Amino acid sequence: MISADVVEKGELEITLVLRGVPLEYANAIRRAVIEEVPTMAIDYVVFLDNTSALSDEIIAHRLAMVPLRSDGALERYRRPEECRGSSPPEDCYTSLRLEAEGRSGEEVAVYSRDLKPQEDPEVVPVYGDIPLFKLGPQQRVDLEAWARLGRGREHIKWSPVTVSVLTYMPKITVSPERCTLCGLCAESCPTKALAIENGRLRVDESKCTLCRQCVKVCEPEAIELDWHKDEYKLRIESSGALKPERIVLEAVAQIKRKLLDFREELERALSAKGAGS
Ligand code: SF4
Ligand code: SF4
Repeated sequence: MISADVVEKGELEITLVLRGVPLEYANAIRRAVIEEVPTMAIDYVVFLDNTSALSDEIIAHRLAMVPLRSDGALERYRRPEECRGSSPPEDCYTSLRLEAEGRSGEEVAVYSRDLKPQEDPEVVPVYGDIPLFKLGPQQRVDLEAWARLGRGREHIKWSPVTVSVLTYMPKITVSPERCTLCGLCAESCPTKALAIENGRLRVDESKCTLCRQCVKVCEPEAIELDWHKDEYKLRIESSGALKPERIVLEAVAQIKRKLLDFREELERALSAKGAGS
């Protein structure tokens, strides 16, 4: 039976334990989290003025890597596939303006908070304190940055996560006949998954990282490490563009959409083959 338990959840991160899920499926979710869930990011920049020490390309690249709030955008903007080409339809792009000028006698630092939305007040930088560049006296930058939905597989700037990892669920077995309760394994365990308590070796598998340090120090070979079949821990950390739980749900929806597209394509190919034979 398939099950998913949330074992940890914060503002930006979530950890799920997936049970009864084959490795291939769990890994498909992990990859879809990185590559398939759309977010807003700056795609091109129109420079009206740039007398800074940096080239247009360097500034545009820095702007592209600023995470933008995307929760509402998933409903309001067209999907990335609809926004390609030289004349994309409406509802693909929204713009942000950045105007900054150096003061006489001092350098001015320009931050992500200086990117001001022109049309959509919800598509704004997640964090206002990302340094973008510095301007010297009398230097000036004036630009329009255009953002659209995209996917991490097109460019990592659109990926909604900074971390998406899948780990095995450890299985620790201690032989009571061989264990001398010397405590060496507990002393060497970096995550405190093992402890000697009330004359017994206490084991907390949820803390284990399968580093095998305990096995190396146990001379009587009393401790065995393995992992539970079809059980995996999925941990993701959001860039802030989307809530972490939304990212997981969207990843599953994207896999489902791809499978339905594949099914449609297969049915079309089969019916074409049938019509031709
Ligand atoms: S190191 Fe081995 S013998 Fe010592 S407490 Fe751990 S499992 Fe038991
Ligand atoms: S494998 Fe590493 S983390 Fe796990 S119990 Fe042994 S020493 Fe601790």
